[in-house]
Amino acid sequence: MTLRPFALYIHVPFCAQKCPYCDFNTYAVARVPDEEYANALIAELEYWGRDPRFCGRSLSTIFFGGGTPSLLSRSSLSRIIGAAKRVFGLNRAAEVTLEANPSTPTRSMYEGFLQAGITRISFGVQSFDAERLRLLGRDHSPLDAETAVRYSVDAGLTNVSVDLIFGVSGQTLNDVERDIDAACALPITHLSTYALTIEPGTPFFQRQERGLLVMPRDEAVAEMLSMIPQRVSTFGFERYEISNYSKPGMHSRHNEAYWVGTDYLGIGAGAHSYVASYQGEQLVGAERWSTLAQPAAYMKGAKEDKAVSWREPLTVDALTFEFFYLGLRRMVGVSLDEFSRRFGGDCLSRYEQVLNDLSIEGFVVRDNGQITLTPQGIALADSVYERFL
Ligand code: SF4
Repeated sequence: MTLRPFALYIHVPFCAQKCPYCDFNTYAVARVPDEEYANALIAELEYWGRDPRFCGRSLSTIFFGGGTPSLLSRSSLSRIIGAAKRVFGLNRAAEVTLEANPSTPTRSMYEGFLQAGITRISFGVQSFDAERLRLLGRDHSPLDAETAVRYSVDAGLTNVSVDLIFGVSGQTLNDVERDIDAACALPITHLSTYALTIEPGTPFFQRQERGLLVMPRDEAVAEMLSMIPQRVSTFGFERYEISNYSKPGMHSRHNEAYWVGTDYLGIGAGAHSYVASYQGEQLVGAERWSTLAQPAAYMKGAKEDKAVSWREPLTVDALTFEFFYLGLRRMVGVSLDEFSRRFGGDCLSRYEQVLNDLSIEGFVVRDNGQITLTPQGIALADSVYERFL
């Protein structure tokens, strides 16, 4: 029997500076502890390679996220990817994504990433408007972003994604349209668009509390959200998830693994992992855990095989909620046959009422056992998910 492959997420928590809206587990550093951090990641890979839950299973995708993983040296990236292949095995055609900051791009940088084994690059561009980039505290210009994408493609890294943020203070619908047009005019295969959320503990949160940051009204943000899919479709991009668009066949395979409930191993400071337990085809539980969040504590812990910070068992109830929550984010929606296969037919009967109500209220469409969100359901997605709790 072939063991199920799993996805590997590698967290690199270092950034050149901390953006004022960011609440990720990231740290502004003058110098990245490149070699020491790579050694810790490799030690952690070897540790999990001995764990019976991962031993003998191969990797479906690798994703370097952060933070700014493009701050790692080419030789460290190459060593980490080499170790992942050695410990678990990786298909030749597997997707290996690197999140990158487009500041100070050089052609040789992208050639180096390709040679290290990266096959896909995801640029945190956020906007093509210089004033908006300043407000967001980004350290790159619109021209840096364009140059980074072109250098990447010239170097042979042709599977390129761009992230944009919308709903920023002072931003109008026309501003967002201009950002979308600028991104889609570049030779990219994938676009992610996220509404800015103000997270507690961030400088933006404090500015908002003091009345110094005025965010667009909810109706204005909803208008931006509903404009984007139609606008990007004129450039040949199709929406395949609430926040994600791609050229045909160029979905992010790594992110899709999360949305369909594939097991994933997260390594690096503060990374999360998820492993499901099955009896036959039926899902009977799962475990989620995280590594130590502080880089120094994490690096010490990884060397001593003690990098895990906390573990949490997940009940079948929590997993059924995640099935709908994550699955409905995808435009193909969720399959009720798949639900019954994973959780049993009895479990599905508990959701019949809520599915019927959501359908009557116009938030979901039920067609041949497939449930998808309607445009109204997408606009109020968070309230729809809550109904499955
Ligand atoms: S570059 Fe990205 S990860 Fe780093 S602080 Fe800014 S938003 Fe956060």
